[in-house]
Amino acid sequence: MRQDDSSDGLAQGQGSTSPLEHAPEFFPALNPTACRSGNNGECSLPCDLLARAKRRLLGSEQRFRTLFEHAGFGIALIDPHGRILDMNKAGVSFLGYSLSEIQAKNAADYIHPDDVQRTRESFRELEEGRRDYFELTKRYLRKDGALVWGRQIVTLVRKENDEPDYFISMLEDITENRRADDMLRHLAFHDALTELANRALFLDRLGTAIRRGKRNPDFIFSVLFLDLDRFKLINDSLGHPAGDAMLCEIAARLTECVRDSDTLARFGGDEFAILLDGLSDPLETLKIIERIRNALARPFFLDGHELFAGASIGVVLDTERYENPDEIVRDADIAMYRAKENGNAVYEIFDSRMHEQAREVLRMETDLRKALERGEFELYFQPIVSLRGNRVTGMEALIRWRHPERGLMSPGEFIPQAEEAGLIFDIDRWVLANACSILDLWSERYTAAHDLLLNINLSAKYFLKRDAVDDFSEILRVTGVRPSRLRLEITENLILDGDEHVTGKLLKLRAMGVSLALDDFGTGYSSLSYLVRYPFDAIKIDRSFTRSMLEKPNDMAIVQSVLALGKNLGLEVVAEGVETLEQAAKLREWDCDFAQGYFYFRPMPASDVMDLLAKPSGLVLTY
Ligand code: C2E
Ligand code: CA
Ligand code: CA
Repeated sequence: MRQDDSSDGLAQGQGSTSPLEHAPEFFPALNPTACRSGNNGECSLPCDLLARAKRRLLGSEQRFRTLFEHAGFGIALIDPHGRILDMNKAGVSFLGYSLSEIQAKNAADYIHPDDVQRTRESFRELEEGRRDYFELTKRYLRKDGALVWGRQIVTLVRKENDEPDYFISMLEDITENRRADDMLRHLAFHDALTELANRALFLDRLGTAIRRGKRNPDFIFSVLFLDLDRFKLINDSLGHPAGDAMLCEIAARLTECVRDSDTLARFGGDEFAILLDGLSDPLETLKIIERIRNALARPFFLDGHELFAGASIGVVLDTERYENPDEIVRDADIAMYRAKENGNAVYEIFDSRMHEQAREVLRMETDLRKALERGEFELYFQPIVSLRGNRVTGMEALIRWRHPERGLMSPGEFIPQAEEAGLIFDIDRWVLANACSILDLWSERYTAAHDLLLNINLSAKYFLKRDAVDDFSEILRVTGVRPSRLRLEITENLILDGDEHVTGKLLKLRAMGVSLALDDFGTGYSSLSYLVRYPFDAIKIDRSFTRSMLEKPNDMAIVQSVLALGKNLGLEVVAEGVETLEQAAKLREWDCDFAQGYFYFRPMPASDVMDLLAKPSGLVLTY
């Protein structure tokens, strides 16, 4: 409610007289008829001087009129009651009313309600002589209902007796500037693709929530950090436009799951963060997670494909412990990783033990960096046997890490971290160089080693290095190993993770004479198409199928189909993870050519391989 306070210069107007007649009064100094000498018209100045002064004043009034009417900005004369006495064309068109409509109302009527109070205060300061002028940027309401922005500069003209006489208000239309500003601000704080808040805005809001929580312990908020599972796959197989469309659809679905007061942000890539504000109970968060889960469980339709998006969610519930937004986001991120690691866990709530574990990972990274220099890696070799030839025909090099405190570690415990930390290139290089020189040594000493094929596992990340192929050839050159003696085992991820460059590099190596095996077949994604598209020489059936092929008809069917597929495509098939006589017998029965597993040989150090090679029938199978 506006107060009818006449001293604030903005009281309700009560109609007005004709505006133009006012001008002389409002500019008393310009009024040639009013002598303000205080001598009751008895002016002591000589008459010709007075006449000249009158002419000059008339001239300046005209000049003022012209300036007033044609100024590119609005000018208004406002009386101490807030009545607009006069307004020029620019001012009138800014507000969209006619001059008489403007004069019929009060100046405050055109101002956005949220800006009225500030305006009143500024007028009061002028009247009370606390300032000579004021400048305000504020919103006005046009007749057509549109909101426009103006910059107003106001001065007060006082009467002889120092009473406020009238205000001169100059008004510049800055709506366009504001729009540009707003747009820039929007761009700075929003994600361009999804229009959601970005990281900066999210952290800002989270900071506000933290401060609010400190002032008011009843204010409860929680943070979710969400990362899509296998999103890269969609991007890589269907292309970026499809990936973008998917992200937008996900953003829309997430928006449905939260309230307007919550902040949903995209942190880039396939990461989203959600700030749930003003909860009545932290556990409400779980209901929202359930909602998100359901929303994402519905299929997505993109380019005629039906797709599903899983997400891993990290949650921070006990937000009152935190001092700054980055820490909360970091912990939500740690919890998200944990959810991802757990595979089928949809979400994971952060607890402080995770810190210890995260620190552990960091420590491992530091150790890994030093491991190469300190020579802590070793190679083990596991024979690959030909069931038809009844002998060992190849060796798979498998890395081990002899950790100073933890003892011998298997690659599953450190390869993923090495990939994360960007160390895999150097490690794979080390494996390659060492395996090649060991093969060279064996071949020099034992004729039995002459036609052994050496299988080497290379991570996708190795091929991401620009000069991977040159590097590879250089290693072969230095160790003197012929390319045909090497077989690279690669997983489907390699093809998926890599772009065409990776595939191009593989083809180059193949052209050099290196053979390729598709590793862990059956565990990945739409494997069949790769077999047709890429020049593989062999398929390795993942040990999870071998393990249960005698118990699970499904797995038996898969093993048999892969064997048949290999025959049809002319590829060698290696069954991995053969542990029992029964499995070995079945594979023979099914005409499987090659096998590998504890039943035949466990992975062994290079020296044990030498012992085998030294024995006359060391490579011959006993079964
Ligand atoms: P992979 O390529 O599938 O290697 C076969 C894994 O199965 C080896 O585990 C081997 O010890 C194990 N294995 C062999 N026979 C049996 C069996 O009968 N039963 C069971 N339960 N397991 C068997 P390992 O050595 O722990 O290697 C694990 C994975 O680490 C490898 O899986 C491979 O993907 C990766 N890896 C190993 N060495 C390297 C390397 O030098 N570079 C890279 N980038 N990755 C490596
Ligand atoms: Ca392998
Ligand atoms: Ca494998």
